Amino acid sequence: MSLLSEIEECGEVIGKDTIDSFLACMQCGKCTGSCPSGRVTSYRTRRVINRLQAGDRSVLADPNLWMCTTCYTCYERCPREVRITDIIRAVRNLAAKEGYMSKSHRATASYVIKTGHAVPINDETKKLRKELGLSEVPPTTHKFPKALESIRKIIKKTNFDKLVGFDWDTMSLEERGEK
Ligand code: SF4
Ligand code: SF4
Repeated sequence: MSLLSEIEECGEVIGKDTIDSFLACMQCGKCTGSCPSGRVTSYRTRRVINRLQAGDRSVLADPNLWMCTTCYTCYERCPREVRITDIIRAVRNLAAKEGYMSKSHRATASYVIKTGHAVPINDETKKLRKELGLSEVPPTTHKFPKALESIRKIIKKTNFDKLVGFDWDTMSLEERGEK
């Protein structure tokens, strides 16, 4: 199966048109010039699109793939309407299936499994909420802990726990040796 077909499969929700849009890229570099992540990391958006066009599978194992913050700036500015951010999300899906999810993304996923939140509430946020006249905790799993059982059922049913490498016995991530 070609890399494009595999990405299409992983971007099923996003749609074939979106995935195929990277074929229109003319390598102008506007995306790289717009990218806030590229200013502080070695991530280069244009280069990722270039490697995808070439069918270069090594892009899946490249840790830079996880440096995109999905801010959509490149998506808005691309003169060829390449739907860059959505493509990167689909490519990440494929990379994750092959075991290349970044440690920080796995850690975020583990918070969802443990608390129902990618960013669990802390004392500082509770204090801020009170100052703003809000309830101390939001009406989520923080307020309704039983809802976490439903979330965990979905996680198990979809094998998200296996994808992330979450160990239910220790309630922590298995070691994969990534940076
Ligand atoms: S801005 Fe669009 S056309 Fe230009 S390099 Fe990036 S993806 Fe390609
Ligand atoms: S969506 Fe990702 S690749 Fe595009 S500008 Fe934002 S951080 Fe860079």
